Amino acid sequence: MKTLNIHIVEDEDQLRETMALALAEEGYCPTMSQDITYPIKRMIPKGTDLVLLDLMLPGGSGFEVIRHLKQDTNIPVIVVSAMDALDDRIKGLDLGADDYITKPFSAKELLARIRCVARRMGMTNVPSQELTCGSIRLNLGDRKATRDGEDVPLTKREFEIMELLAMNRGRVVTREELLEKLSDQEGELTSNSLDVHIYNLRRKFDPETIQTSRGIGFQICDDGS
Ligand code: CA
Repeated sequence: MKTLNIHIVEDEDQLRETMALALAEEGYCPTMSQDITYPIKRMIPKGTDLVLLDLMLPGGSGFEVIRHLKQDTNIPVIVVSAMDALDDRIKGLDLGADDYITKPFSAKELLARIRCVARRMGMTNVPSQELTCGSIRLNLGDRKATRDGEDVPLTKREFEIMELLAMNRGRVVTREELLEKLSDQEGELTSNSLDVHIYNLRRKFDPETIQTSRGIGFQICDDGS
């Protein structure tokens, strides 16, 4: 099966290399640019299936790349932006970016975003993956959860929360991050409804599954397995 060709536009050397390595290990075929060159049409290699795009770049702004991609191609683009650049992110989405990811991010989160966009675009050649956390398994292909091999029925929102926590296992995910990351596509997630979802997830799995870090956020229980 043909793999997805993913083009990375990022001027930070280390981040670009790290992303390329993570993509290659996952079975994708990464190519890279470290700045914007014109014409943009020639900067993006032929056969590119998806673009990961930093916005602040030498030689121009990533917005010009989004404009080009949305006008002249149907290649999906995921914006890779700094955490504090909310206006930029909104502008990017307004211009037609398909998703965004905020720095710093884990390789797992990057790969999950790519899978998510690729699925939405109907691309079938995406490596399937599973997130595991102790006895809990999240199948990202069919969006089903199991615990000790038993199905645990989750709502779409509950699965998204578990996915985000599991992608960031080993650290506390702040309440703000959860609200922000889960609010863009399916309407707004409020702080109150987040608490209800967490309550229900603890009921469905185990009270210990999700730890509260008071005043900060939540962390998925990592029992080391
Ligand atoms: Ca940059």
